[in-house]
Amino acid sequence: MANRVYLSSPHMSDEGYEMQYIREAFDTNWIAPLGKNVNEFEKELALRVGAREAAALSSGTAAIHMALKAVGVGDGDIVFCPTLTFSATANPIVYQNAIPVFIDSDYETWNMSPTALEKAFEKYTPKAVLIVHLYGLSADMDKITAICRKYNTMLIEDAAESLGTLYKGRQTGTIGDYGVFSFNGNKIITTSGGGMLISDNEERIAKVRFWATQSRDPARHYQHSELGYNYRMSNIVAGIGRGQLQVLDQRVRKKTEIYEFYRQELGALEGIKMMPSNDWDEPNYWLSCITVKGKVRPLDIMEALEKENIESRPIWKPMHLQPFFAKYDYIGEDVSENIFQNGVCLPSDTKMTDEDLKRIVKIIKDLWR
Ligand SMILES: *Cc1c(COP(=O)(O)O)cnc(C)c1O
Repeated sequence: MANRVYLSSPHMSDEGYEMQYIREAFDTNWIAPLGKNVNEFEKELALRVGAREAAALSSGTAAIHMALKAVGVGDGDIVFCPTLTFSATANPIVYQNAIPVFIDSDYETWNMSPTALEKAFEKYTPKAVLIVHLYGLSADMDKITAICRKYNTMLIEDAAESLGTLYKGRQTGTIGDYGVFSFNGNKIITTSGGGMLISDNEERIAKVRFWATQSRDPARHYQHSELGYNYRMSNIVAGIGRGQLQVLDQRVRKKTEIYEFYRQELGALEGIKMMPSNDWDEPNYWLSCITVKGKVRPLDIMEALEKENIESRPIWKPMHLQPFFAKYDYIGEDVSENIFQNGVCLPSDTKMTDEDLKRIVKIIKDLWR
């Protein structure tokens, strides 16, 4: 696998920032639980995105789970959720014994369609709306927040893929009531695994930290008056996060260059459409995605790349088409399904060289000859 080109793999800083924080944790034997890196990572991330508070957790999925709990989602509650996403967005709804209702995307954003969302509100009264900024593209936030305000419903942003993306100059994740980031291995920055929940509601974030450490009441003995979880981030992992945060801008810049290169080289090929762009959106370009229609199919591209030991991937398969989630209601048309059927995520690894990129576009262009 030595010279494999990955879709998006961990990329530690050239400067070794991550190791400095890890070494400090070792030297003070502050390996776990919690510790200085956790506190500082929370502060640094909150400052970076412009949120009042942040809770460092063991994964983005845990952060979504805690966000749902923080807004009071429980037994039998409805939660609106995009259908075009990774299953980690939807799973925590079921952890809370709540009921997801899946909402279609639109072609303009690939994210939750405000029109379909309005329709869903005519049918249901949800406890919360959970949206995603897919592949680092921001959702249509003005319209979505207006609808949530109109129906007085809490808004959670799954920004797992969009750390660093700006919507009208504001960081995604900070626009709704709660925002979620992930530091899983293939995300734009990674801690090996981890997540963060952010909000301006300090009291609720303090409560999340309490739940995430087994809901230990303040008492000398172990006392619990609420259900607890083991969801906190370790001090070692947080050290990696502090280092990675320092190269986030670098990573966004490189991801943008990768996307621009693909756009210039492939954008004019017959049948190819680059993922949507909107003037209010400054994406982090976590993954460069395209749709392709015509005689070259997405699978042709993926197979041609795989033959050369280059990783690419289909677009997320919509949740309402997943065997596990098929029993839940779905509001929309066939937009998400079309994007899934025709989509490809191109290699977007920030460690790719110019030669790698040239090789990739040549392999793809050859399919058109
Ligand atoms: C990665 C991801 C998550 C989950 O994050 P983990 O840290 O892997 O638990 C949630 N939602 C989306 C859209 C993701 O891409």
